[in-house]
Amino acid sequence: MSDDGASPSPSAESPPDRPLRVAVVGAGPAGIYAAAALTRQDAVPVAVDLLDRLPTPFGLVRHGIAPDHPKMRAIRDTLHRALEDPLVRFVGNVDVGVDISLAELRRHVDAVIYTYGASLDRHLGIEGEDLPGSLAATDLVAWYTGHPDADRARVEAALAGVRSAVVIGVGNVALDVARVLSRTPEELEPTDMPQHVLDVLAATPVEEVTVIGRRGPAQAAFTTQELRELDGLAQATVLVDAADLELDPGSEERATADRNVGRNLAVLRGWTDHSPVPGRVRLRLRFFRRPVRFLGEERVTGVEVERTAVDGDGRAMGTGELEVLPADLVVRSVGYRGIPLPGLPVDERSGTVPNEDGRVLRDGRPSLGEYVAGWIKRGPSGVVGTNKHDARETVAALLADAAAGVLTPSGPVGDLVAELVARGAEPVLLDDWRAIDAAEVALGATRGRARTTMHEREALLAAVRAAAARGR
Ligand code: NAP
Repeated sequence: MSDDGASPSPSAESPPDRPLRVAVVGAGPAGIYAAAALTRQDAVPVAVDLLDRLPTPFGLVRHGIAPDHPKMRAIRDTLHRALEDPLVRFVGNVDVGVDISLAELRRHVDAVIYTYGASLDRHLGIEGEDLPGSLAATDLVAWYTGHPDADRARVEAALAGVRSAVVIGVGNVALDVARVLSRTPEELEPTDMPQHVLDVLAATPVEEVTVIGRRGPAQAAFTTQELRELDGLAQATVLVDAADLELDPGSEERATADRNVGRNLAVLRGWTDHSPVPGRVRLRLRFFRRPVRFLGEERVTGVEVERTAVDGDGRAMGTGELEVLPADLVVRSVGYRGIPLPGLPVDERSGTVPNEDGRVLRDGRPSLGEYVAGWIKRGPSGVVGTNKHDARETVAALLADAAAGVLTPSGPVGDLVAELVARGAEPVLLDDWRAIDAAEVALGATRGRARTTMHEREALLAAVRAAAARGR
């Protein structure tokens, strides 16, 4: 296909004799589940290009799920099976919007499913938020999972010498961050964290981690399994103030109606008799405190919080009572938001792409051949498996459009990978990813670990080039 992208005119009467070509943009769980749903059906012959900005697949399974959760990370094995389907071509290291525009991509395929997630952090919009020593959970998570774009210098400067950390937000990501900061080097060694992450965390003398919720324990977003895990850390003691567990009638009702809430409260109540133990990290969970401003001149020294109460609808109301929580590190873990992809509509408020059952809406109307799945479709919620159902709904919409004859293979389509190579991009295909995988396992073996994540894009690409030079 030429650079001006002039595609042959679609011929509705006699679609060409080839499968429907679908590009899936984002090889995280939503993208991989979408690819699997497309290939595991017989109604419409398809061929899928599964694109990712990174040279590696798996999205948040690789760069989101905490490395000390190996069982959850093992879902990679299941996801890998979908990558190995001959109808799916993994094409990593391709930044849609940079290496190829959306319009150009669309000229190489019949349909696109956007599944590129929600990778930006949300801000609190309060004073001092950008001081050194203040990090977004997304920064810290990217760093400890070895994301190539992590800002290593900033995160490591923020962690230097930290004794006391405050984590804002009471979702599962906040618990991940609190747990990773509270773990011993021995607990982290078996993970696949990059070596420099292990070294920096081992040198960080954390004594106290305080997780704060702006509402009560009945409104916390974390799930019981993740909460319970905090009490199993080798050298940390979970501390909960009984006064924070006194509930208003609305919260009592919520605890009865919602099993997760009821279980969370039972777990928290079981911890109210814990006392600090010398030499162990104090992992405090505090509720009814909303951040007002971050304190400090050259770097963070603490957070000023306002005590809150919840109203009958579970909303936080300020009481005017202020309190200072000293901290050398503050991590805001208040959710993710989606980035607009140039050329794709985005609802600024929710950070999602407007859609109806997964069909992208432009000016309120479905845009033929454009679909969306995962966090960029529904917002940053749910567990990995939630994306399976979500992706299936989107693929059902795509297949319905194909069955209705509105979405058809339209004309010969130039090969996307050849086009990317011609543009100077360096697409990473499945065998290349296998070379990276093997290099990470080999790197881990040098320190007796099962795997060490390689965090530099150049190192990942060097593993690909080395394998190609060896003839694999
Ligand atoms: P989340 O579950 O939406 O939690 C965000 C937290 O931030 C909530 O406690 C929220 O409180 C708080 N918050 C938001 N704005 C705030 C503000 N201005 N001031 C103070 N607090 C504020 O988000 P997440 O933790 O990033 O997790 C994202 C998704 O990934 C979730 O579905 C989560 O379950 C999932 N996840 C799952 C696992 C796992 O299964 N192990 C691990 C990690 C993530 P309000 O409720 O008051 O707004």
